[in-house]
Amino acid sequence: MNVLFVVWELDAFFKLGGLGDVARSFSGAMKNLGVDIRIILPYYSVIKMENNVKTLKGKFSLLYAGKKEHVEIWETVHPHTHVPVYLVKNTKYLNIVTKIDTWGFFNKAVVTMLKQDTLQWHPDILHLNDHHCGLIPLLLKQAHLPIKTMITIHNLFHQGHASFAVIRDAGLDPTACTPVSWEIPSKQINFLLEGIIHSDIITTVSPSYAKEIMTEEFGCGLNEYLKGLEGRVVGILNGIDVEKKLSEAKSRQAGPRASWKEEKVKNKRYLQKQLGLKVSNDIPLFCFIGRLDAKQKGLEILHTMLRRINQEKIELVILGTGDKPWEERLQWLATFYPKHISCNFMFNEAIAHQIYAASDFILIPSRFEPCGLIQMIAMLFGTIPIAYKTGGLKDSIQDGVTGFLFDKYNSLALERAVTRAITLRRDHKNEFEQMTKNAMLKDFSWKKSALKYLSLYKQLLLENTIIRTGSSKS
Ligand code: ADP
Repeated sequence: MNVLFVVWELDAFFKLGGLGDVARSFSGAMKNLGVDIRIILPYYSVIKMENNVKTLKGKFSLLYAGKKEHVEIWETVHPHTHVPVYLVKNTKYLNIVTKIDTWGFFNKAVVTMLKQDTLQWHPDILHLNDHHCGLIPLLLKQAHLPIKTMITIHNLFHQGHASFAVIRDAGLDPTACTPVSWEIPSKQINFLLEGIIHSDIITTVSPSYAKEIMTEEFGCGLNEYLKGLEGRVVGILNGIDVEKKLSEAKSRQAGPRASWKEEKVKNKRYLQKQLGLKVSNDIPLFCFIGRLDAKQKGLEILHTMLRRINQEKIELVILGTGDKPWEERLQWLATFYPKHISCNFMFNEAIAHQIYAASDFILIPSRFEPCGLIQMIAMLFGTIPIAYKTGGLKDSIQDGVTGFLFDKYNSLALERAVTRAITLRRDHKNEFEQMTKNAMLKDFSWKKSALKYLSLYKQLLLENTIIRTGSSKS
């Protein structure tokens, strides 16, 4: 079975967040199941090629925005998973990451490449990811290429709204697309919606999120469309690359080892010293790792709680980049409590692993979380998650067993969960240790979920009719 995995980021070459991790670990897991999976992504100028050998697979030209453009396809192999990787090069459109034309051009380039048989390898399925690939199903139909399509929604919030000009530039017939905001003159098309409507099957990254996106609260305006396709929307929990995480941890503590308690103390002391925090194992160390995205990541309830509680009873390490006003607000708190709050506004994986390994708890107050990987990585490192009960957090954390969930989205509920956590660690040491062990023993590898994807791939190839599987429970 041949699968071309079309994606926007891929860890080792280019990573912005969880999608880069998933692209790498998912493709490795599918390869281990015997699928001939290959990855394609744009060849941005920021791609880290390092010592990877690359060869020119082919070149062609295509018409975009009425002009002839040249495209090169470079081939390499992922340095860790050995999955073949294709990089699409065009200096005008694909050098930078976040322009709507970049997506339109990339989509057109992928389909033109298939039409011209540049790879001389024939995918049975295109596995598309998020709105960046949204025009591909329609472009494939227009090119009369009989390839099945699956689109995975990693985050419904980001949809890629564009003017109809992009559709015309990509050579698509605008009447085949679904306009959004049709009632106002500046009506637009929506990349993700096009992908959802025209793909053979839609998956999303946790069973709970598959249900949530059917509701007005979480549907980001697409809930009615998704409800109409209900039987074709399947939720499968993401996994993580456990081996990679363990090897990255190296001397740092991770996984259920006999010495985990001592190693946690050592790592905590090291981090406290490095960041100028008060050095003590008695004080509970919390962390927050991730994009500082106020719309998703719950910064406002975190900030309100921090302003209310006695900061000197805890320590908090923040690692992330994003919304500047939030960076300033958090930094302001850290300025008053330099021995208790440490802000690190950067993207640095080595530091992230140090923080996972050193912390007692990770705070995940996300308003919505399609899957979330940080809670899985944290648990592997024996760090207890405290999270809002939503999406993949709900599917991967058991309240009172492997972590703490709060089910009202406000700062008081978050504070109550934090208090429960502090009390358990301070007053019920055995129960706290048991919870840590439970968390470390949870299997978040791709094993189970990769098999579910494999069975969907098989169904896609067998059925010419609509798949009606519903949400698949993990
Ligand atoms: P999202 O995909 O919404 O950004 P996830 O929880 O799914 O969130 O995945 C985030 C990934 O990015 C994790 O691997 C996390 O460790 C990593 N990460 C996030 N922010 C940083 C940062 N500032 N430095 C290093 N790694 C980070």
